Amino acid sequence: MKIGVLALQGDVREHIQSLSDCGVDARAVKTKGEIQDISALVIPGGESTTIAKLARAFDLMDLIKDRIKSGMPTYGSCAGMILLSDNVEDAIEGQETFGGIDMTVRRNAFGRQVDSFETELKFKGITDHPVRAVFIRAPWVESVGPSVEVLAQISDQDGNSRPVAVRSNNLLATSFHPELTGDNRVHRFFVEDICRQLTGLKG
Ligand code: GLN
Repeated sequence: MKIGVLALQGDVREHIQSLSDCGVDARAVKTKGEIQDISALVIPGGESTTIAKLARAFDLMDLIKDRIKSGMPTYGSCAGMILLSDNVEDAIEGQETFGGIDMTVRRNAFGRQVDSFETELKFKGITDHPVRAVFIRAPWVESVGPSVEVLAQISDQDGNSRPVAVRSNNLLATSFHPELTGDNRVHRFFVEDICRQLTGLKG
């Protein structure tokens, strides 16, 4: 199975490594032809506004939107989560997303003083031990529609539970960066439970 990592901006190499560790053919993609040729996509962490602008500039926006809508398994981490969200709070003016997940995320939600932090999270579907989660200027999920399943949550400074990992059919999104920890269980969950289940592809 060929999984592409969208290579416009962000931590592309780390996702390719995590996916390769799961035994799939992972490659950087940034042209229409390359995106047409893959069976699943990962949108890396980085800067959602930049990735969206580049996707528009290189004429990839509508192709990616269409592929997501027609069921291509897609996983977004951090900026990638923002790009998979139908609605964004604290977006810059005119910020576009690919969309697909019926939810609202808030960019840079954790505030300045805790711009970046790490913690352990319970993740539904990954049962052996908690997932080490690295948050870097991360979004959280403000609200979700009925098609969205929350897989992990965290308490904010005021003690409110904030979803930080969600799934909606073919789409997976995390506020945090599993690609930076060497623990590839979130990528394995994407490959095994979403890509292979939905596409029936082996390899
Ligand atoms: N704050 C960034 C954005 O809005 C996301 C940060 C990240 O991906 N580490 O896109």
